[in-house]
Amino acid sequence: MISARDVSFGYRDALVLDGVDAHVDDGDVVGLIGPNGSGKTTMLRTLYAALRPRAGSVEIDGGPVERLRPAELARRIAVVAQEGAPELPLTVVDMVLLGRAPLRSMLSSYTRADHRAAAAALSRVGARDLASRSFNTLSGGEKQRVLIARALAQEADHLLLDEPTNHLDIRYQHEILALVGELGITTVVVLHDLNLAARYCDRLVLLSRGAVVASGTPDEVLVPEIIEPVYGVHVRRLEEPDCVQLVFRPRDRNDGEDMRCA
Ligand code: ADP
Repeated sequence: MISARDVSFGYRDALVLDGVDAHVDDGDVVGLIGPNGSGKTTMLRTLYAALRPRAGSVEIDGGPVERLRPAELARRIAVVAQEGAPELPLTVVDMVLLGRAPLRSMLSSYTRADHRAAAAALSRVGARDLASRSFNTLSGGEKQRVLIARALAQEADHLLLDEPTNHLDIRYQHEILALVGELGITTVVVLHDLNLAARYCDRLVLLSRGAVVASGTPDEVLVPEIIEPVYGVHVRRLEEPDCVQLVFRPRDRNDGEDMRCA
């Protein structure tokens, strides 16, 4: 369980997060959504203690994240950040084994248990057959699977992902998010695509200019009255049998004040 209460943060003087609350129950997938620059990545970084809030608190199962030592933090939270992976000449299995690094001492080599965990993680993302490939030669979707496997090999009970579907085609976008949902791990995922968020997230937190505009189930958050002023577009909501979906169209020149971005 992750709880962020009244989190504020600024890189310099200006506040980038202003009193943000976010709560993730065990096993839930919570989507952080909002326009560019609304503070999603910054919020995610406060959740794994890469940034320290100016005010407010972030807790894992009731304990402050900032008090966790690096090894303990690595046991609780695995991160798939947006930068992806550096262009290192590593095989896929070596890349996944890096997920074990925080769990062992500096000078020890990988154990059988590490190799078992890496193999299990690759199987879980359906990428066992890629194990001996060079990571740099994989497609975007394959790389993303392997980076998720690296996070799983870490065996943390919380998973944070920043835009895991970036640069993926539609099929892989769905495959990756379906996979994340099936893992059953407490997850926070930053997503741009509101329709993917509708389909794969249990709950959503909508940020605009560093503040929470709405939070709740996709059904509660993805309503035109909430989304239109935040994104400055027209929204039509479709009630699909399995989830809500939104259709967007640009606003007209003569739209009124209520369509201005919030
Ligand atoms: P989002 O993920 O929603 O696009 P970010 O959290 O990346 O938003 O950014 C929120 C705001 O913080 C933006 O105005 C961005 O320019 C600013 N920002 C992000 N990272 C830095 C940084 N390292 N230094 C200064 N400002 C930053």
